Amino acid sequence: MTVRTGTAPVHTADELRRRLQRIDGRGYKAYKTLQGAYDLGDFVLHLVHVQGDPFATPSRVHVWVPQAVAGFPSWSYQSEARAIGVAHLLARTFAEKARRLSRPRGSGHSGRIEMDRPGQEVLPRTAVRLTAEGIEARFSVGLPAYGRRIDANEARALLLEDVPRVVRESLRFAAYDPETVRTFAEVNEDATWLRAQLPSWGLVAFVANGACLPRRSGVDERPLEEGAVLFKAPPSLRREVVLPSGRRLTGMGIPAGVTLIVGGGYHGKSTLLRALERGVYNHEPGDGREFVVTVPDAVKIRAEDGRSVAGVDLSPFIRNLPSGIDTRAFSTTNASGSTSQAAAIQEALETGTSLLLIDEDTAATNFMVRDRRMQRLVPGTQEPITPFIDRVRQLYETRGVSTILVVGSSGDFFDVADTVIKLHEYRVEDVTEAAREIARQFPSERTPVTDNPFQEPSVRRVPDPSSVSLQKGKRSSYARARGRETLQIGTTLIDLRAVEQLVHVAQTRAIGQALAYACRRYLDGHRPIPEIVAAVLEDIDRAGLDVLDPKGLLDLAGFRAQELAAALNRLRTLRVRVEPPA
Ligand code: ADP
Ligand code: MG
Repeated sequence: MTVRTGTAPVHTADELRRRLQRIDGRGYKAYKTLQGAYDLGDFVLHLVHVQGDPFATPSRVHVWVPQAVAGFPSWSYQSEARAIGVAHLLARTFAEKARRLSRPRGSGHSGRIEMDRPGQEVLPRTAVRLTAEGIEARFSVGLPAYGRRIDANEARALLLEDVPRVVRESLRFAAYDPETVRTFAEVNEDATWLRAQLPSWGLVAFVANGACLPRRSGVDERPLEEGAVLFKAPPSLRREVVLPSGRRLTGMGIPAGVTLIVGGGYHGKSTLLRALERGVYNHEPGDGREFVVTVPDAVKIRAEDGRSVAGVDLSPFIRNLPSGIDTRAFSTTNASGSTSQAAAIQEALETGTSLLLIDEDTAATNFMVRDRRMQRLVPGTQEPITPFIDRVRQLYETRGVSTILVVGSSGDFFDVADTVIKLHEYRVEDVTEAAREIARQFPSERTPVTDNPFQEPSVRRVPDPSSVSLQKGKRSSYARARGRETLQIGTTLIDLRAVEQLVHVAQTRAIGQALAYACRRYLDGHRPIPEIVAAVLEDIDRAGLDVLDPKGLLDLAGFRAQELAAALNRLRTLRVRVEPPA
C-alpha cells in the first residue's frame, strides 16, 4: 500500500489538526486539502479519496497498523489461508465496531465509519489484510458537515477519536481472546487443505460429522439454532482424516462419479446440496459448514428461463429444432428452462469444472429425463432434447466430470448412478445397493441415447469487443454492483440472481471491476472467453485484487473463474464469433 511503501509523505497528527482548523466552516470541497497520510502514533491514517459532497459516496480511508503495535503472533499469518481466516475475523469485528461506535455528526453521511461486513464465507478481501509487517484496513468515512459546510470539530472527533477507537478495538491482537484468533487461523487452513486433498482421495466432496447444514431462514445464512439435526456419515461412505492442525475428523466422502440424493419431500435434500454448492468456499468457525468442502471448480447448474445466451453449443442436449436453427452456436435473448440449463452446463464445461450440482427444485423436468412412455408417444426423431439422464454418465466417462443430483421423483436415474444417498428425517443413508436391486427388478425400459457428443471439444467463443461497453454518459469505464444479485456494466444490467455460488456483494463488485479490466486488457476480438477469464484470474493470483482497483477505493472479495464467466455470459449485449476449436 502507498503508506507502507513510503511514496507519500507522512504528516503529523498536529498537521491534520491545523489543516482541519484552516478549513472549518468553508465549503465542503475544501476537505480535498486533507488528502494524504497522517501518523497518528499507533497507526497511519491515509485519506485516499475525499468525497465531493456530504451526501455523496463517503470518503476512502486506509489505515496501516504496524505489527509492532498490532501484535499478531507469527502463527496467525504464517500461511496464506491462516492470514485470510484471521483477516475475516478482523473485518467482521471492524465492521461491527464501526457500526456501534460511529455516530451521526451532521448532514448526509457525516460521522459514518463503514466497512462491508463479511458473510459466512471466508474470502480474500481488500478490506483487511494481515501480513508479517502489519495490518492494512480500508473503509469509508463520512466527513462531517452542517449543511454543506465543513464541521472541523466533528471531523476531528471522527478522525482522531472514533476511528482510532475502532482501530484499537478491532485491529490489535490484544482486543481478542487468543483462542478465537487461533481457531479462525487453523480452521481456515484446515478447510483449505481438506479441499485440496479431495481429488487424490477420489472424492468430489466431504461432509464432516457434526456439521450443521440448515440455515436460520431463507434470508439468514447463519446456522439454524433450534432443532438442527447434525450430520452423520453412513458407515459405507465414512472417511477419517487428520487435518494439519492435528484435529481428527470423521465424515462422509462423496466419490467421483454420478451421485443421487434421494428422499421424501422436506427431508433435507436441497439443504445438503446447498451446503455442497457453498463448499467451494471456506466458512467461518461456528458456521456449521466449516468442514463441508467441495472441489473448488464445482458449479451449480439450474434452469433460468429468460436469460440471454450468446453462441453456445447446445447440440449435445438440443438438436433439430423445428425452426431449423443450428444449436451448435445458439443465441437467444429469452432462453427457455431447458435451453438455459443446457447453456449453463456447456458454459461450465467451457470455463472448466469437475463437478456439476443440480437440484430438481430448480431444474427443467424435460431437460432432466424422459420416461419410456413419453419416448413411445414422442419418438426421439421428433424431440430436440436429449435429456441429461442420457448424458450424465458420458460426461463422467469421457470428460471426468462428476455430477451430484437431487432427485426425489425419478427412479430412472438409478441406472446411471454410482452412489445413491437417501435423506430420511435429515439423516443420511447409503442406499446404493437397494437402488441397484430395484433397478434390476423393475427395468426402466427407457431407450437410452447412445451417441456420444462429449468427445469432441466444443467451439471457441470469441467476444466481439464492441458488444461489451462500459460507457455510461461521459464515463468510459462504469461498473457498479447493485447488491449481490445485480451488476451494472455501462448502461446494461446483468442479472445474477441465478448465479447461486456468488455469495457476497464484494464479489459482485470485484467481478464488475474484473469485466472492466478484461475489456482494457484481454477482450481483443481474438481471445476466446475462457482464455480471457483465465488471464484475469492469473493476474489476480499474481498481484492480488488490487490489480482491479489500484487506488484501493472499493471493498472487493475474491471470486472464481466460474462466476466471472457467468457474469459475462449473462451480459445481454454480448455477441460472440464462433470458431472451430484451435
Ligand atoms: P427437501 O429438499 O428434501 O424437500 P429441504 O432441504 O428444503 O428439503 O429442507 C426442508 C426444511 O428442513 C428446511 O426448512 C430446512 O431448513 C430444514 N432442514 C434441512 N436439513 C435439516 C437438518 N439437518 N436439521 C433440521 N432441519 C433441517
Ligand atoms: Mg428440495
